[in-house]
Amino acid sequence: MIRRAFHLRVVFLDTLASTMTQTDLTPEQIVMLCICDYASQVRGKGFPLTELPIRQRQGMGLAPTNLMINALGQTPATPWGALGELLMMPDAGTKLEIPGDDHHPDAYLLLADLVQLDGTPWPNCPRHLLRRAIAALRDEFGLQVKAAFEHEFHFSGVDERVGDAYLAESVDSAGNFPATLLATMRHNGISPESFLPEFGPRQFEVTQAAALGMTAADQAVQVRELVRRLARRAGGRASFAPLIAPGEVGNGVHVHFSLVDINDEPISYDPANQHGISSRAGAFLAGVLRDIPDFVALTAASGISYDRLQPDRWSATYNNLGRLDREASVRLCEAPTIKDVDPTTATNFEYRAADVSGNPYLVLGALVWSGVQGLRDELSAPIVTTESPEQMSAARRQELGLVHLPGSLSEALDRLAGSARLREWLGSEFIDSYDMTKRGELGLLAELDEAERVARYVAGY
Ligand code: GLU
Ligand code: MG
Repeated sequence: MIRRAFHLRVVFLDTLASTMTQTDLTPEQIVMLCICDYASQVRGKGFPLTELPIRQRQGMGLAPTNLMINALGQTPATPWGALGELLMMPDAGTKLEIPGDDHHPDAYLLLADLVQLDGTPWPNCPRHLLRRAIAALRDEFGLQVKAAFEHEFHFSGVDERVGDAYLAESVDSAGNFPATLLATMRHNGISPESFLPEFGPRQFEVTQAAALGMTAADQAVQVRELVRRLARRAGGRASFAPLIAPGEVGNGVHVHFSLVDINDEPISYDPANQHGISSRAGAFLAGVLRDIPDFVALTAASGISYDRLQPDRWSATYNNLGRLDREASVRLCEAPTIKDVDPTTATNFEYRAADVSGNPYLVLGALVWSGVQGLRDELSAPIVTTESPEQMSAARRQELGLVHLPGSLSEALDRLAGSARLREWLGSEFIDSYDMTKRGELGLLAELDEAERVARYVAGY
């Protein structure tokens, strides 16, 4: 009896072994269809690659309330509850491939637009909002925006060394991570421009080359995904949180931008102007500066963002255009006058009052929409500041029209809600739902001290 059982078991195992070799499982390729939400988190749903043709036609369902999941992963309040249905419609031009390694299959992501069931855009879709701003700039003024995002982040996978600010060796201590990151960016058509150790402990920065509006924002979303995933594969964790610890240097997201015409010819530079700013770029910039205090809730959108927007942090405190000033909300990046630098292509402007909590579509959208208003109103170019507004007398600041940025997210949300210009772009449903998700997030932090609040965001971003 025992012998027979043993014999059967051997036969069974033999059969199993032969089936296994016959079937030879090939891992399924999963496509993640993603959106970047109000919290600037990339969330999505997956399907097998074989389903792609169907998903390209029919999209994939998503509840509007999904947009209301905040940075801390909670949804304290939502205007839509469990009701409603949207479709995530993939944009084939946004494919992101992350080649696998010994422990990970190839990853495949697509970004989506949010549309209603009849296929019309959902008015609150961040990509749609940027597209509207871009269309206004193009249709009314024949112009396009080019932008390059700079991302600062903290990478836990390196040794901390006393005095490691900008230390060349830090890049080596990050192992294969930087080289793999840059290669994966390039593989996906995102041109890396630099990778550097930043000022803070274990802080790094990666920058991508300028691209046209929508592509630039898509690539910002993709770069964050790449940094996070490849940092994890390298055995560490990347966090873009605006602060890593109270008092520590911040992680900014700086957006360099300039204007080009429909033929991609740069138009920001004019040698006749004292600072090389063309009149159209000047009107655009004046519109941006005018609205920064009203739209900063979209670009510095977390409960700790305003701890970063403080003096002496190389971030921003006033709505000024500062010449070569790393504490201006917009830094005028004049072209160097050494030979072989073409000022027509090199002149650009850097928006510095943003961090990872600002959804890239809304950050760029706010710049473009406000710039369009400046062009519509034919504003004259702003006066370029050459000293810190912090050092100026109140009278001088008033003369220059400089306004202090809101001191907290709550104040910034009040400004956003009160702006007729931004309401025209975003619509009341967006402003009210955005306000609701952000105030819900602030409510979750209310009882925490600063160190705990920062720790939540380091975990979330
Ligand atoms: N880390 C600074 C920030 O929070 C910026 C430093 C720099 O100029 O690159 O924005
Ligand atoms: Mg930097």
